[in-house]
Amino acid sequence: MNILLIGSGGREHALAWSISASPLCDRLYIAPGNPGTAQHGENVALDVADHAAVIDFCRAKSINFVMVGPEAPLVAGLVDDLTAAGIKAFGPTRAAARLEGSKAFTKDFCAEFEIPTAAYRRFTDAETAKTYIRNFGVPIVIKADGLAAGKGVVVATSFEEAAAAVDMMLGGGFGEAGAEVVVEAFLEGEEASFFALCDGKTAIPLGTAQDHKRVHDGDQGPNTGGMGAYSPATVLTADIQARVMREIIEPTLAGMRARGTPYTGILYAGLMLTESGPQLIEYNARFGDPETQVLLPRLKSDLLTALVAACDGVLDNMSLQWRSDTALTVVMAAKGYPGPVEKGSEIRGIEAAEALDDVIVFHAGTKREGDRIVSNGGRVLNVTALGPTITAAQKRAYEAVSRIDWPEGFCRHDIGWREVERERS
Ligand code: ATP
Repeated sequence: MNILLIGSGGREHALAWSISASPLCDRLYIAPGNPGTAQHGENVALDVADHAAVIDFCRAKSINFVMVGPEAPLVAGLVDDLTAAGIKAFGPTRAAARLEGSKAFTKDFCAEFEIPTAAYRRFTDAETAKTYIRNFGVPIVIKADGLAAGKGVVVATSFEEAAAAVDMMLGGGFGEAGAEVVVEAFLEGEEASFFALCDGKTAIPLGTAQDHKRVHDGDQGPNTGGMGAYSPATVLTADIQARVMREIIEPTLAGMRARGTPYTGILYAGLMLTESGPQLIEYNARFGDPETQVLLPRLKSDLLTALVAACDGVLDNMSLQWRSDTALTVVMAAKGYPGPVEKGSEIRGIEAAEALDDVIVFHAGTKREGDRIVSNGGRVLNVTALGPTITAAQKRAYEAVSRIDWPEGFCRHDIGWREVERERS
């Protein structure tokens, strides 16, 4: 089949790497892609916000399957428009993608279907919100309702901090995304991510991961899109995973069906593992970035076959096989990230890094200039390694990082620390 993959990050390089290896894949196009995806298919300059242009492209190239990587096109209804045009597309409809697109929607949904999550209230008026916060006490969590590029959450430890977040969000700091805020109870525990592949009625587990949001070693500094990840996350034991399926994922699928908006696609649950069990922090309606870069290298089964089965509603016949190894990815970012960065510095040594066994370098913000690779964004490379243990995977990933010659870049040096400590004890 001919496939169009939408997106341009490290996640899409990992998807292109997996999809292009499938026996089902004839031609792969990536819009807009990056120099990494270009190793596995043809990058095309398409404006993915222009749905009519995407549909025209699919018709011209006889595309049989569209895989949407990022959330914005899902929330904008790209899957709806492609499906209406008779083109098979993977991912939730606009209505189903509200599980990611609106935190207020998801909290109400969880309340209706008794899915464990933090207690919450919704507000559109700042003074009412502040009165509630004063009575509730701190710590407390303030969230902009809509998509805010991972910046719309403030965990406040003082009333003043909470009030400032409310004023900023309801005062238009995030535009429409902050027209409403969710104020919720602070949950204590360890965070982990659980992925499920869904066909509307059936969900199958698609692995676990933990990421590292803070920019500096020791989980210090501002939040980022993610500085590294590993999979599996053993803190999600088989028993806890079974609970997550039973108490969170399956009721979500049943609830979305009952509402007439069945959920098809990747359901990525951000979880807090509390003393009373796993609680949902948030849903994402797509693969994670950088989590995909550690999930897919462990998958032995054919990814594309599974994605198509989800789209066709036949996941009940499917089970996935995994490598027993651990995968770990280190994000290399341009100095200054998550603030403003300079683009255009040359990166050498990617091939030397990939010459190591079980190492793959996924590109994110890179650009090809002649035969040079240069930086073109904040998060630039994902150096991924597999190993029989987390300690081995970590050692190999950092050995690969040391082969990359890019003075203008940096990375964390402790990716996987939690799991390495667990393995030691
Ligand atoms: P992203 O998609 O980048 O993960 P987001 O903006 O969608 O972020 P959330 O994932 O809902 O926001 O929250 C971001 C972070 O804030 C979480 O990873 C978690 O560390 C913290 N957080 C969110 N809700 C709570 C809560 N109720 N209790 C404690 N911490 C929380």
